[in-house]
Amino acid sequence: MTTKERYERVRAELDEVCRRCGRAPEEVTLVAVSKTVGPDDVALAIEGGATDFGENRPDQLVPKADQFTQANWHFIGNIQSRRIKDIVGRAALVHSLFEESHARKIDECAARLGIVQDVLLEVNVSGELSKSGLEPDQVAEMLAVCESLPNVRVRGLMTMAPQGDADVARKTFADLRSLRDELASQLPSEKAACFTELSMGMSEDWCEAVEEGATIVRIGRAIFSESF
Ligand SMILES: *Cc1c(COP(=O)(O)O)cnc(C)c1O
Repeated sequence: MTTKERYERVRAELDEVCRRCGRAPEEVTLVAVSKTVGPDDVALAIEGGATDFGENRPDQLVPKADQFTQANWHFIGNIQSRRIKDIVGRAALVHSLFEESHARKIDECAARLGIVQDVLLEVNVSGELSKSGLEPDQVAEMLAVCESLPNVRVRGLMTMAPQGDADVARKTFADLRSLRDELASQLPSEKAACFTELSMGMSEDWCEAVEEGATIVRIGRAIFSESF
C-alpha cells in the first residue's frame, strides 16, 4: 500500500467508527503525524485528502509548513522557549502547552505578528512519570493564566494515553473529557464555546479515543509506516 492509500484507509475507518458511535465524521479532525517522513510522503497524503499534519520538532515543522501552505500544521512536541518564534503563526494549533513561561512567550510572539495563537493544554491524565503535561488539578490555574493573555486562545485539552492496554487508554480519554466538561462549565459562555477540543488518540488507540469524544486524533504510523 502507498501512503495515499493508507491515508484513505485510515480516514475511511475513522468515518466508520464515528458513524458507529453516532458521531458525524466532520466532528473529528485527522492530523497526519508526518514527523518520521519527508515532503514526498506529505504530498502523497495530501493526494489522499489529508488537510492537517502534525510535527513534534520545529526543525521539521518550519520547512514542511512553509512548503505545504495549503495544509494546517499542528505542533505536537516538546516546546522549547527559544523555538517558540518558529512555531507561533506557522502552527494552526499548538497541542502541547503546559508551562506558564511558554504561554507568556507565545502571547508575546503572537502579539508581534498581530495574531491570536490557538493552543491546547497538555494534561498528564495517567500520571505516568515519563509523560509531560499538567496534573489534572493544575489545569484550571493554567487556564486562568492563559485567559489573561490576549494573544493566546485555549481551544481545549490534549493527552497521550499509556500504550498497550485499550481499557487503560479508554479510561484516560474519558477522564480528559470529564475534565474538559468540568472546566467548560466554569467558563463564561462565550469562552466555553471556544473551549471544545479534545486531542487524543494515536495509531494504536484512536478508536477508543473517538468513542470517548476525541475531536482531533493524531495518527502517524498507521498512515506513514509500511510495517504498522
Ligand atoms: C508521534 C506522535 C503521535 C503519533 O503516534 P503514532 O503512534 O505513530 O500514531 C501522536 N502524538 C504525539 C504527541 C506524537 O509525538
